Amino acid sequence: MTAPDAVLCGRMLIGGTLRYAEAGIADGRICELGGHVGGGERIELGMSMTVLPGFVDPHVHLRDPGMKWKEDFSTGTTAAVCGGVTAVLDMPNTSPPVTGIGALRDKKRAVAGRAYCDYGLFAALSPGCPVSLLAPYVCGFKLFMGSTTGNILLDDDAEIAQLMSEVSAVGRPVSVHAEDDSRIAHGVEEACCQDHLRNRPVEAELSALRRLSRFKDANRINICHCTTAEQIAAAKGLGFSTEVALHHVLFDAQRYTSALYKVNPPIRDPASRNALRAAFLAGEADMVGTDHAPHTLEEKSGEFDAAPAGIPGVETTVPILMDWAASGEVPLAQVSRMASLRPAEYFGLNKGAIEVGRDADFAIFDMRKSVLIDQSRLHSKAGYSPYGGMRAVFPDTVIIRGAVQVREGEPCGDPVGKDQFARLRGRLLRGCRAEGGMPKRVRHVLPVPA
Ligand SMILES: [Zn+2]
Repeated sequence: MTAPDAVLCGRMLIGGTLRYAEAGIADGRICELGGHVGGGERIELGMSMTVLPGFVDPHVHLRDPGMKWKEDFSTGTTAAVCGGVTAVLDMPNTSPPVTGIGALRDKKRAVAGRAYCDYGLFAALSPGCPVSLLAPYVCGFKLFMGSTTGNILLDDDAEIAQLMSEVSAVGRPVSVHAEDDSRIAHGVEEACCQDHLRNRPVEAELSALRRLSRFKDANRINICHCTTAEQIAAAKGLGFSTEVALHHVLFDAQRYTSALYKVNPPIRDPASRNALRAAFLAGEADMVGTDHAPHTLEEKSGEFDAAPAGIPGVETTVPILMDWAASGEVPLAQVSRMASLRPAEYFGLNKGAIEVGRDADFAIFDMRKSVLIDQSRLHSKAGYSPYGGMRAVFPDTVIIRGAVQVREGEPCGDPVGKDQFARLRGRLLRGCRAEGGMPKRVRHVLPVPA
């Protein structure tokens, strides 16, 4: 057994229950776990602290490369770690879009050494996309069935079927933006979120599910940003995984009308939102994905019709859920399962649980410290948040593979983030393996608690 460099001691969520434990850390992984772990420097956390596995966000848009005025890998991953997220999976509708080997290689090179948390990159399914070549180097594939930012729409059933069979052969998951484009009213002017909702009805999502049903036995399909309880039930009935974003749980088009809340698929009516919230709290969805989609305040402040769709959320989602957990609205173990364990397991990351052999990723909270979200203190380039003023419990300390990335709520680490899907050597990856510095060992950087 490897002797630990450091031993983290405190109240930890292990196997769904909170209990006192000691976690030995060596070479960035948890090497030992128990009531007493010897060797290494002991880091004793007070009993007011709650230690959770780091969170895994299966759905972000960090806009890098190509739209770096909205966000970039450094700012987006800094926002992530400040929100307790230790790994993000980035969508392929960057510019140029990731639809081939060249674009993937260029994106890997462009972001290498600039991430403050670990990450994986998606490739987009598009006609002629070299699925088997891309597969080893991506966390999964993204299928855009409805038009949205980036225009990598794939709407032809024959083309979808061809690509799905290729993905099935390589065994990788497909995250789907499941809105049937033919059910979306294009070119109809919109002045508010209710107009946007009218043009993108729930039926577009249900229709997309029906078209995907033929792939239920051959493919692993994850339905992104489910907006209704009905859609979650329908997707689960087909054996698909389901992902929910907090904006659909919290906002409705009747009350939140401005372009700040414009997003695809749209926020729905109050009754649908309430039903989604009930389903979410009951644990009916598999995963939480923030769908962090930053735009500048200027872009979001113009005319509704011209404003881009998307809402930032990578820094605020987990802290809002932690506030709900602190007030007993949702079980802590459920939050951890939906926002950490399940996304990690679904996409094949060695994260998501405090377990021997897993990455030493921890998000440590003082659950008594509920605050109001101050937009000016967030780290995304977006510079605004529709969650401003809501209650949240931000992490005190965040550790990624033994390196402290957040201390006393402030980012403090180096860009240690590693591409989690760069493990195979080959031509594609030459020059793409600069993954930031070696993580600092926890003993060098963790504060000695009072
Ligand atoms: Zn998205």
